[in-house]
Amino acid sequence: MISRFAKSFIAIVVALLLLSTISFIHPSSRNYSYFDPTSGEFLANGNAAAERNHKQDQLQHDAHPPISGVQGGVIMEKLGNATAKAALGRATWKLLHTMTLRYPEKPTQDERDALNSYFHLLSRLYPCGECAHEFQQLLKQYPPQTSSRRAASLWLCSVHNRVNERLHKEEFDCAHLDEEYDCGCGDEPIGASAVPALDLDMMRGGR
Ligand SMILES: Cc1cc2nc3c(=O)[nH]c(=O)nc-3n(C[C@H](O)[C@H](O)[C@H](O)COP(=O)(O)OP(=O)(O)OC[C@H]3O[C@@H](n4cnc5c(N)ncnc54)[C@H](O)[C@@H]3O)c2cc1C
Repeated sequence: MISRFAKSFIAIVVALLLLSTISFIHPSSRNYSYFDPTSGEFLANGNAAAERNHKQDQLQHDAHPPISGVQGGVIMEKLGNATAKAALGRATWKLLHTMTLRYPEKPTQDERDALNSYFHLLSRLYPCGECAHEFQQLLKQYPPQTSSRRAASLWLCSVHNRVNERLHKEEFDCAHLDEEYDCGCGDEPIGASAVPALDLDMMRGGR
């Protein structure tokens, strides 16, 4: 014959066993705090899946930190001296055209991002403030084309022509890019025959 006390004791033990089994089967219902060593953050009420995602996001962020400062307004003042402005412009165009003509034929996403960021950073940091402002408007209208060397060099040629137009200068024939910017670098030329007529409407579509 089991006493009343023994019956109650057994009932309590069974209830405790049931509770611990449920909490083992559903670990996400457990509440605890967790310190993330990668971020130095203290995560309360830890949910295992959320913590794993947080850690993965952090690792991804560390491997590919977003470039800051790419977007934003013009940084430099107006460049009053017309001679200095023209000399700066000639030197910069030379750099930019040579760069796009040596850009990879088949760029990786990382290389495409680099070129895109480069032009946007230039539009902030170009030492002639009023030129930079105009360049920012052009980038909005004609986002940089980065999918290939040909796309990038023709895009830049057409953007330079938009600046020429505004300054009442002659339009440059983009079929002659290779001859104009032959740096003797040893790369294969793009080939005038492969250069299609420029379609600025197509270029408005972006990268
Ligand atoms: C991003 C940027 C924005 C500018 N904005 C202004 C501005 O707002 N106001 C201002 O006064 N100046 C501006 N400039 C300077 C201006 O574009 C000229 O560089 C400057 O007036 C000198 O002109 P240039 O006649 O010597 O020939 P540039 O236009 O400097 O061109 C140099 C050489 O490049 C070749 N070329 C010309 N057109 C093209 C083309 N479409 N594609 C490839 N090659 C070509 C020609 O051989 C030319 O002699 C800007 C320059 C840059 C780089």
